[in-house]
Amino acid sequence: MGIKGRVSRRGFVGGVAAALGSLGFGSKSFLWAQGGRRRRPTEAEYDAFAKLSSNENPYGPSDAVMEAMNYGFKYANRYGYPDDNIQQRIADHHGVEPENVLLGAGSGEILKIVGATFLRVRKLVVGVEPSYGSVYRHASGVKADSIKLSLLPDYRQDIPAMIAATNKNYRDIGFVYMCNPNNPTGVIVPKREVDQLLDAIPEDVPVLMDEAYHHFVTDPEYASAVPHVLAGRQVIVARTFSKISGMAAIRLGYAIAPKNLIDQMRPMGTGSISAIAKWGGATALGDTAEQAKVREITLELRKKTTMELDKLGFDCIPSQTNFFMVHLGRQVRPVIDAFRERGVLVGRPFPPMLEHLRVSIGTPDEMDRFLAAWKEIFPEGGPKASG
Ligand code: PLP
Repeated sequence: MGIKGRVSRRGFVGGVAAALGSLGFGSKSFLWAQGGRRRRPTEAEYDAFAKLSSNENPYGPSDAVMEAMNYGFKYANRYGYPDDNIQQRIADHHGVEPENVLLGAGSGEILKIVGATFLRVRKLVVGVEPSYGSVYRHASGVKADSIKLSLLPDYRQDIPAMIAATNKNYRDIGFVYMCNPNNPTGVIVPKREVDQLLDAIPEDVPVLMDEAYHHFVTDPEYASAVPHVLAGRQVIVARTFSKISGMAAIRLGYAIAPKNLIDQMRPMGTGSISAIAKWGGATALGDTAEQAKVREITLELRKKTTMELDKLGFDCIPSQTNFFMVHLGRQVRPVIDAFRERGVLVGRPFPPMLEHLRVSIGTPDEMDRFLAAWKEIFPEGGPKASG
């Protein structure tokens, strides 16, 4: 039997303009409120939004990845099927052994596995706030605590504070969490500061390096932490196919770590990754031309949008990712709602940065819609214009 209903990439981005015409975003009734509770949008409503809220890749998987995923359906009814050697391919990609690789249903599963593995006995995770908060939520879910350090005034992670907190609580630290570049700020920790951290904390403390946005970084001061794994440090690098490869809903990510850590983590995973995800991921990994295209257009649109906001009187935090934060000079919550009323989804509030808005980089059309809505919401310009 052949593969039914083959899906093309075009299907991901098509149909939006048609749906837009029939929806009244301007009306307040479009707040999905039903009896005081939010409902999920219908498919047409969802498709019509400019989706700048979750740092997704708006273009979806490449044609080559779509082809590979379609091929993966061949094994839809099997267990223990050929999977295009994805684990070996990831190992080769990073110059490690397959025993250093753990697959997850998204890197989110990897983060959760790290919590479940290393917070059982030692009950503290150290990191900064704001950062990718699900790590801290998982910690409280397994009855552990988080030491959440403030960012520095220029939004960098405070490495000396991280070192001090780790050393002071050494016996209780399950792992240190570093999101690099950080979500939601888009700011990197330079290689020398990652080295500084690892040199100053006990060697047996695992450090989880979340590199979800690795592929968007251009700053030469930045480096992946994979070489630390090769050097035998207790470092776990988490990567995802959700961002640069546009596979967020397909769910595929992985960890690279020394064998002793992977061996502890593996029993905590579900191993429930679909054939579709594995075949798609194996192709996406080597699809460097597509990655370069996505990076180029994303960085170009980030530059254009942040320059425009600057002209309008708003400061943006210089970002190394497919999103950025802009300082509003007022509370973010009503601004998020005002964007939604205009058909644009933007990032949620990130305490304690409640006067900043996080904006993901979408398609050129979505960024035009964002700026048009922005001008309506801030007709008087920004804090810089009035200050
Ligand atoms: N880590 C960071 C920093 C993220 O921003 C995200 C998603 O937005 C994830 C991990 C989880 O992504 P996924 O589970 O789709 O790989």
